[in-house]
Amino acid sequence: MPIARSASELAGDVRSGLISPTEVASAYIERVERFNGLLGAFLWFDPDAALAEARQVESRLARGEDLPLAGVPIAVKDNISTRGIPTTCASRILEGYVPPYDATVVERLRLAGAIVFGKTNLDEFAMGGSTETSAFGPSRNPWDLERSPGGSSGGSAAAVAGLLSPAALGSDTGGSIRMPAALCGIVGFKPTYGRCSRYGLVAFGSSLDQIGPMALTVEDAGRIAAAITGHDPRDGTSLDAPPIQPAFERASLRGKRLALPRELSGEALHPAVRSAFLQALDTLRAEGAEVEEVSLPSVRLAVSMYYILAPAEASSNLARFDGIRFGPREGGAGHVEAVERTRGRLFGHEVKTRIMIGTYVLSAGYYEAYYTKAQQARAILREEFRRVLQRCDAVVSPSVPVPAFRIGELSGDPVALKMLDLCTIPANMGGFCAISIPCGLAEGLPVGLQLLGPPMGDEALLETAHAAERALPPIGLPPLN
Ligand code: GLN
Repeated sequence: MPIARSASELAGDVRSGLISPTEVASAYIERVERFNGLLGAFLWFDPDAALAEARQVESRLARGEDLPLAGVPIAVKDNISTRGIPTTCASRILEGYVPPYDATVVERLRLAGAIVFGKTNLDEFAMGGSTETSAFGPSRNPWDLERSPGGSSGGSAAAVAGLLSPAALGSDTGGSIRMPAALCGIVGFKPTYGRCSRYGLVAFGSSLDQIGPMALTVEDAGRIAAAITGHDPRDGTSLDAPPIQPAFERASLRGKRLALPRELSGEALHPAVRSAFLQALDTLRAEGAEVEEVSLPSVRLAVSMYYILAPAEASSNLARFDGIRFGPREGGAGHVEAVERTRGRLFGHEVKTRIMIGTYVLSAGYYEAYYTKAQQARAILREEFRRVLQRCDAVVSPSVPVPAFRIGELSGDPVALKMLDLCTIPANMGGFCAISIPCGLAEGLPVGLQLLGPPMGDEALLETAHAAERALPPIGLPPLN
């Protein structure tokens, strides 16, 4: 079976009987067995479980069930709960934890005929942008094994870019779907906040987190989004809205107004990223898009507000990991000592740092100075974007200011690493939808172009991204073989 095919093509061939789900699963299992040692993409992978799911899909097809994702393997980030399958968040504090239930997105993937294809590596509790804070070792970028795939959904991105799985799920709190997608040369889509259920996603920043697809094409991302989104009564923040259903046949760039923020196109960018991005913009213009320069001044504060608000929410969400309710427990004389030891020994450095920052900014003496101020700044940023999005179809920028960096290169410079979230964080702050698509190469490494749309503008955004993808020259596949 030729492996570099999109999820949509695979589903089509399975549905028409050209190829069977077990043949598809076997082909990808072979890739995982060959390359996962190099890439560190999967934390858990069970070929027998994948084949068993494939056989179930076969019998459902034989019964005449209509399965839009028939036989498509989809890797799942390991902070998304899977019944009977370990879910560790790449943390030692959840080592060996096996959830008793499936996340809504996992349930819906299976309902659509997809195969849950292993659990992928991430930064511990999705806190990071390189997969280096994983307690189980970093993932590697298929374009250059010395480099990071980005993060936090770096395992999912490496799996898809390395063709170990045709698609994957990631989660995005400040860019964790779009950033690794950009650095690995694939598509990553963060839906509007509330359109994709968070039930079963281990919470990081609850007001920011969204699950979304990572795939080889925009069409695949749309097809997976159609399967996993839609109202979920089990998630209190789920919007009462139908699943995301893009109509790709009407996709066009003609007359599309793209807002180019000055703050995300100037010297904040690596020169090679900048030139690849500007060249891509010229291509979109040639296809009829109108690019208008705008100013979104509060973008400059986005990283600062995020690194107050996300830790604040995390410090509260992670309080539940005490060694009593989930995962392993370090013994101690009495409750307090046992909790202290468990959290002290089993959480990694980045997670502890964030919990401390979060606790600090929420403390009685500092709440007004930090948390309240950051919330006010967030409201201003949201308003600035809303105003631009009333006139324009999307805000366009690079997804990440630099190409993939070397593993270890930024681990001593946490501020530099966090500044890489500059372009992606605003979408989470405002609950907007956003997508990263490959738009060229910088020094031989992929560059991502981000399109950001208004809340509930997911369908239009995917259609525009599809038209842009069609217009841009393909970047090819990584040299992994
Ligand atoms: N890099 C950001 C962080 O470390 C974003 C993480 C995410 O989106 N999960 O918080």
